[in-house]
Amino acid sequence: MSTSPVPDELATGRPILFRNATVLSMDPAIGVLDGGDVLVRGERIEQVGRELPAPDDATVIDASGGILLPGMVDTHRHMWQTALRGFGADWTLSQYFVFYYLNWGKIFRPEDVYAGNLASAIEAIDSGVTTTLDWSHGLQTPEHGDAAVEALRAVPGRFVLGYGNLLGAPWEWANSPEFRAFVDRHFSSRDDMLGLQLAFDVTGDAAFPEKGAFEAARDLGLPVTTHAGVWGATNDDGIRLMWEHGFMTPDVTYVHACSLGEDSYQRIAASGGTASISTESEQSAGQGYPPSWQLRRHGIPASLSMDTSVWWSADLFSAMRATLSADRSREHLEAQTANETVVHNKLRAEHVVEWATMGGARALGLSDVIGSLTPGKKADVVLIKNDRSPAMFPIVHPYGHVAFQAGRADVHTVLVDGRVVKYRNELVGVDLAKAREAVTATVEFARAEIGEENWRECMAPEIPETELIPNPYTYSDYRGEGVAVRRAEA
Ligand SMILES: [Zn+2]
Repeated sequence: MSTSPVPDELATGRPILFRNATVLSMDPAIGVLDGGDVLVRGERIEQVGRELPAPDDATVIDASGGILLPGMVDTHRHMWQTALRGFGADWTLSQYFVFYYLNWGKIFRPEDVYAGNLASAIEAIDSGVTTTLDWSHGLQTPEHGDAAVEALRAVPGRFVLGYGNLLGAPWEWANSPEFRAFVDRHFSSRDDMLGLQLAFDVTGDAAFPEKGAFEAARDLGLPVTTHAGVWGATNDDGIRLMWEHGFMTPDVTYVHACSLGEDSYQRIAASGGTASISTESEQSAGQGYPPSWQLRRHGIPASLSMDTSVWWSADLFSAMRATLSADRSREHLEAQTANETVVHNKLRAEHVVEWATMGGARALGLSDVIGSLTPGKKADVVLIKNDRSPAMFPIVHPYGHVAFQAGRADVHTVLVDGRVVKYRNELVGVDLAKAREAVTATVEFARAEIGEENWRECMAPEIPETELIPNPYTYSDYRGEGVAVRRAEA
């Protein structure tokens, strides 16, 4: 064990007072406080205000020059895939499907799920993501599920396990005695540190075989999270079948929700369901155009997610930035195509910060527990502050600062359930060495199983040729008659 030490002043369960921050409470009744304080006692937020008296035994954290916000919430992350971080940087969605669904998903053992989850869970809290929905579709057996739970319980973050199995039929595994035993084993009593959902996709098969899986979820009282509106994979048929069979309930999360028709968006909006936007993922994998502009038009509540570290950065700063950029790009493109000019942006920095906090809490059914700095709520708190960074001053537009200026390295202090898990920009009470060791073993194992040649090929997919278009200013035979000759030389 090489768990990072807990500083003395934080070890004793004393109240914690954050002093003199710009507080983004995300609670409409409190709003934004300049020179604001937040007092945490035990696992809860006790007070939010200015110049709060410090209890005698309080640890006071100087938050001046910093921004305090609620812990961020990621509503869709395939944590087990973190074991192959960065491997798929140049993939499309098709290459991802071939790798995990067809060829290699089956090789991952329980210890590999453990390794990926452990690294991903630590990475989440390090970046201020205090709650993560683990969209865990690598659970081929309940033993894989046990390993996922073991890793999530080993890290002091808040998690929801989205139980899934990409190699199995959801209507079968969700109704198996082994799965029911797994639920009894780990979730016989429910707490808000580790929740449970069912994670599966709806193929659009007219026979609607997924009905059995939805019935299992209803029977167990579990919400469902599903990849919906993914180009080439899930479409309007899935939404229609869910609607017709009465499974579009408010607790369903529609992940991506990109390639859908008007009717599907209206059904989602009418049902009260929420969407999880994974902009970085949608932009490079190809599920469809990042849907924030559609969700806004239909009034569908949004949350943010990063999908998988096999491609992308596992922090919500990137997600907020990418989402603002994609939404505004779309607005400009649509307007300019009609020879018009966007003069006012509709999506604001404040909106994406809301999606990254309350939006996620709402999607996970935890809006009474987390998502805002509200007295009485659980103390999931993030202080963004970095006195060594030239990008941390001046703070004149705090929402804009969070969305466009700050990054993981600026996350100074993180509390989860009142417990300090990061302090002075360093993780506290976390065994990073153990995660590194486990991930190293998984990479060695996977590389050997896959074979050196396949490994390299999978990581470096073929690049389609880019045809250079003729340039009349450079070449004399720009009409395409074979060998290009510079005009000057001709
Ligand atoms: Zn996904």
